[in-house]
Amino acid sequence: MKATLAPPSSLISLPRHKVSSLRSPSLLLQSQRPSSALMTTTASRGSVAVTAAATSSAEALREGIAEFYNETSGLWEEIWGDHMHHGFYDPDSSVQLSDSGHREAQIRMIEESLRFAGVTEEEKKIKRVVDVGCGIGGSSRYIASKFGAECIGITLSPVQAKRANDLATAQSLSHKVSFQVADALDQPFEDGIFDLVWSMESGEHMPDKAKFVKELVRVTAPGGRIIIVTWCHRNLSQGEESLQPWEQNLLDRICKTFYLPAWCSTSDYVELLQSLSLQDIKCADWSENVAPFWPAVIRTALTWKGLVSLLRSGMKSIKGALTMPLMIEGYKKGVIKFGIITCQKPL
Ligand code: SAH
Repeated sequence: MKATLAPPSSLISLPRHKVSSLRSPSLLLQSQRPSSALMTTTASRGSVAVTAAATSSAEALREGIAEFYNETSGLWEEIWGDHMHHGFYDPDSSVQLSDSGHREAQIRMIEESLRFAGVTEEEKKIKRVVDVGCGIGGSSRYIASKFGAECIGITLSPVQAKRANDLATAQSLSHKVSFQVADALDQPFEDGIFDLVWSMESGEHMPDKAKFVKELVRVTAPGGRIIIVTWCHRNLSQGEESLQPWEQNLLDRICKTFYLPAWCSTSDYVELLQSLSLQDIKCADWSENVAPFWPAVIRTALTWKGLVSLLRSGMKSIKGALTMPLMIEGYKKGVIKFGIITCQKPL
């Protein structure tokens, strides 16, 4: 299987110097998976041991994410199509939407995100886009078509990268969009080349949020926009040091099946962007707008077609499906927040 294709010529990645990592202790987030225990227990034995443990923990997480999406992406595409993210709904939409209604809601999520970031007025300026954590490329193809831009997507999953490239070819878009396997925390791109840096529901997988944000900022062109749409936990109240144990417990259970490290809040993202002197930093809580999404996914999973596909797909998909009610519980109890955070890099 060919995992990567050559990107459009002007986006060819060149070797670059290593960025020194910005590590804010609270935002270097330990994985919730078993290997994180190693990271914690070695902490007192010196920094070499900690670094080695952290590296193996990060590596285990990367592998887990790649395997998870290798296994589950086909099933998702079969049932839900090429957008692997929440839909955006009117807060009071209690009607049961048809399949096409949910697809429209997913497209609306892209449109609302662009609008929130103030990108729509600047369409002509969007020439180069990176889709960080691209899934099978739904956002990339949509944005490339909308703006006539060149778009390159990165994912940890070779299966996704191949499928995304195949879909681009089938839609006669391969001269504009391409996909490759690469790590969002160490992107194979030069500094300052993208007018739009797009991360739709990938930030929650990043074990080091500070490094993640720093990489997004590094590849953004001066004057370019960054859009992060991601699962967050609620903002902590003043004086609160951490979530309540029951809240943490709920998130930990979600982390195990969805291959997520520890979560952060939208305020944490805002602080990181402020520390890097980004401009026009905005954030919003869209939890109410995504509320109909997980119930709809569960309904499709419980159809005959959904059940058969789930069983065929494998254990990771089945475990993922069993975790979906926890997402609903997390939103209902206010622990999980669906956040958008946007900003502009100074000229
Ligand atoms: N943005 C896509 C897919 C969201 S699913 C969409 O909206 O359709 C999460 C994606 O994040 C997957 O493609 C996964 O491979 C990617 N991802 C997670 N961690 C990553 C990392 N460290 N580097 C690159 N991609 C990552």
